[in-house]
Amino acid sequence: MLNGEKKIARPLRWAMIGGGRLSNVGYKHRTGALRDNTAFQLVASAFDIDPERGKDFGVNLGVEESRCYPDYQTMIAEEAKREDGIEVVSIATPNGTHYAITKAALEAGLHVICEKPLFFTSEEVLEIKELAEKQGKIVGVTYGFSGNQMLLQMRAMIEQGKLGDIRVVDLQYTHGFNATDSAEKASDAQKWRVDPKVAGPSFVLGDLSTHTYYMSQLIMPKMKIKELLCDRQSFIPSRAPLEDNAFVMMRYENGAVGRLWTSSINAGCMDGHRIRIVGSKASLEWWDSKPGELKYEVQGEPVQTLIRAMPYLDESCNADERLGALHQEGLSESWANIYLKFAIAIDAKNRGDEKTLNNLVYPDINAGLDGVVWIENCVRSADNGSSWVEFSQANQKATV
Ligand code: NAD
Repeated sequence: MLNGEKKIARPLRWAMIGGGRLSNVGYKHRTGALRDNTAFQLVASAFDIDPERGKDFGVNLGVEESRCYPDYQTMIAEEAKREDGIEVVSIATPNGTHYAITKAALEAGLHVICEKPLFFTSEEVLEIKELAEKQGKIVGVTYGFSGNQMLLQMRAMIEQGKLGDIRVVDLQYTHGFNATDSAEKASDAQKWRVDPKVAGPSFVLGDLSTHTYYMSQLIMPKMKIKELLCDRQSFIPSRAPLEDNAFVMMRYENGAVGRLWTSSINAGCMDGHRIRIVGSKASLEWWDSKPGELKYEVQGEPVQTLIRAMPYLDESCNADERLGALHQEGLSESWANIYLKFAIAIDAKNRGDEKTLNNLVYPDINAGLDGVVWIENCVRSADNGSSWVEFSQANQKATV
């Protein structure tokens, strides 16, 4: 159980790039990083593409005015001159900026926590992975739902063979907020999401399904996709070539099969994020709308609901417990859990503690790479007439 006590010697000096006043995701980063004030301290910022608004926002959050910078380049340069300069940055800007900012931060000797989808191509991720290794730095990726500890319960039960052999993987992350094009007209954040120059090669596949794909890998690290077929659509034609809906079918190396539906045109849907794993003996199901519960169905037995924070859960699950049974935990705690693991990873990296790093389960650069590779394979299949393609680990534009 977590109670806010320190897990590392002292809080890390942390800055945010993006995630400003009007952003969707900025507050989630701060609520995650600052939940335990023993892990991170927000000491500098380049919050906004609009320097004045970014400065005003930073000051309102308690950042020293002189450390609210007009842009990330100035922040990195000025902070490098200080003895108490920043050690780690979080990047919460639109997708098309992630690669350049991550590169600049690593080159300046900073650890990086970056939004998903990490970059546009697997080549970029591999290049940055090499740079991070050379610099001895961590790159963490904010798959923000993945800190929900009931996913670790699923991981433990699958590893213990409670489901038997895995046969079917059923994944869904859908909502209906883009059922019409009014969202693009009303919001800059939606406008860039359907512009390939800023969003990259996909819309919902990158924006939504990378979360769910990572969560499935977290739950079942041994399950590797052998081939997949992706069919993607732009129901609002102006979004083409980017999709607002996609279906993916997967065949796994162990003979299991899977499907994933991702969509932003699932009109009216408010609880469309779920994972169901079907084995030869039993099934497990998790819904984001009830994140503290798992449905456990053993063939021939009454259906069970496993509840967060109860002593019958696996130790790995309850280790991330904060509030105790009877009280609700949710997305904020999930973010706090992954941010705490980023802090532990950074501290271990600084101390050369490979044992801690190897035993820590958190979304690292390999998880970021997996997400980009997932998008590449989906797009390659969709753009080749929605044909089955071999799942390749890096960009293979030429082969279908
Ligand atoms: P947004 O458009 O709402 O906000 C972007 C923010 O970045 C704004 O504050 C903007 O002023 C700032 N910005 C843009 N360019 C900048 C630059 N060069 N330097 C400094 N600041 C800059 O976008 P959003 O919806 O918050 O998404 C941002 C990122 O977070 C995207 O990569 C998106 O995929 C990801 N995201 C992740 C989650 C999650 O659950 N992990 C949720 C939403 C968004």
